[in-house]
Amino acid sequence: MAKIFCVANQKGGVGKTTTTVNLAASLAAQNQRVLVVDLDPQGNASMGSGIDKMGLEQSVYHVLIGMSDVASARVKSETGGYDVLPANRDLAGAEVELVEFEQREELLKNALAPVLADYDFVLIDCPPALSLLTLNGLCAANGVIVPMQCEYFALEGLSDLVNTIKQVHANLNPSLTIIGLLRVMFDPRTTLQQQVSDQLMAHFGDKVFNTIIPRNVRLAEAPSYGMPGVNFDKSSRGAQAYMQFGAEMIQRIKTM
Ligand code: ATP
Ligand code: MG
Repeated sequence: MAKIFCVANQKGGVGKTTTTVNLAASLAAQNQRVLVVDLDPQGNASMGSGIDKMGLEQSVYHVLIGMSDVASARVKSETGGYDVLPANRDLAGAEVELVEFEQREELLKNALAPVLADYDFVLIDCPPALSLLTLNGLCAANGVIVPMQCEYFALEGLSDLVNTIKQVHANLNPSLTIIGLLRVMFDPRTTLQQQVSDQLMAHFGDKVFNTIIPRNVRLAEAPSYGMPGVNFDKSSRGAQAYMQFGAEMIQRIKTM
């Protein structure tokens, strides 16, 4: 049975999508069966996995509104070695449409149930908002992976997310926990980043992943080739860090 992880942070551009596709490719390279759910109307995780988001007949939108199911809407990422439930602009309207549905926070959870036996990991790439879409991700998940840059305001933004996760845990999904905070786009030469990283460790202890993802231009170049960085340039420091992160996740779920 798959373990389901939400990659979430309401802050934009912090590395959610880069983490989702590269963790997926890393896990796939380590013989894990992976489904990526693109829960962002921007469709970046779909594009970054080599899937043409404009040409989709079915997407996560159709699944959420009950017009399709995951088994028929998923597609294979040839460049990543995993499956994708893709997204595009269609999803932007869902936020409003879904309000009329009963149990509207649990649509994704219910849709995923029939395919969980097909995978070891389901990774959900959330949009940069604490919206109904993100709520669907949090309700479906066993745990949250929070990518963050070690910057001055990072800790402040974290408290909103932590509170939302606590509320979802209390009211909707008692199995939800923060699996870990992942330091991304890290530059060890910057004193401030080192300081924030130290604060993070002091505050969150073993909730901080051991792996640190460095700032690495190869990771940023890969999406324009429709490839996860892990496969685009295997020898790059970014690719190696995400490979290590995959190994760390495989270890973590053994104790879940
Ligand atoms: P959004 O909130 O818009 O969904 P996001 O949190 O998903 O954004 P990404 O799209 O993953 O963030 O990353 C933002 C930008 O930073 C992208 O251009 C990406 O290529 C780049 N980037 C992400 N991680 C790294 C890294 N480790 N090194 C260099 N560039 C990175
Ligand atoms: Mg994104």
